[in-house]
This record gives sequence, structure tokens and C-alpha cells, in this order.
Amino acid sequence: MTKQAPVLRLCISCRKTYDRKHLLKITKDHKQGIVFQNGMGRSAYICKSKKCYSDSKIKKKLQKALKTFLKPEFIDIFEKEITSFNDYPNKGI
Ligand SMILES: [Zn+2]
Repeated sequence: MTKQAPVLRLCISCRKTYDRKHLLKITKDHKQGIVFQNGMGRSAYICKSKKCYSDSKIKKKLQKALKTFLKPEFIDIFEKEITSFNDYPNKGI
């Protein structure tokens, strides 16, 4: 069977489930550290709603979900990632 069921994932901020391709994946990769969309390791997903990614508690939630410490610079990189992800939806998946 080659049925393509959508892969549902939970947004760690609003706790709603979405199709995987509408979510930004943040992974604590074993080798590369924190990576977006790729990587192997513990992952968390965030939806593209501004309410979620600009939540003041988002860093804390991510740290908890990924069980890691995120550098202060992380949030800037993260915001850039998720806003550009908004403009260019990932068509590769
Ligand atoms: Zn959300």
C-alpha cells in the first residue's frame, strides 16, 4: 500500500496537532546540536502561528521538550527560521 496518510505532530506551544509539513521541526542533533527541519535526535514541533512562535515562554517550552539548554541567540535564529518558513512553505516533503 502506498497510501499517503498525513503525519500528525503536536505543536509544543498551542498543543494542537497539525500535518507535519505545516510545522517547523527543531531537533537536538547528536552531532550538529540544534538544527531546523533536519537532524537526528530529540525533536519538537512548532506551528507557524505567530501566537506560538512569538510566545515569550517558547524558549522555556523548547528547552523542556528538547531537554537541553538553548543559548540566548537561539531565539533570533529560531524567529528567522520560522518566518522564512512562512514565506517559503517546504514543498520537499
Ligand atoms: Zn502552535
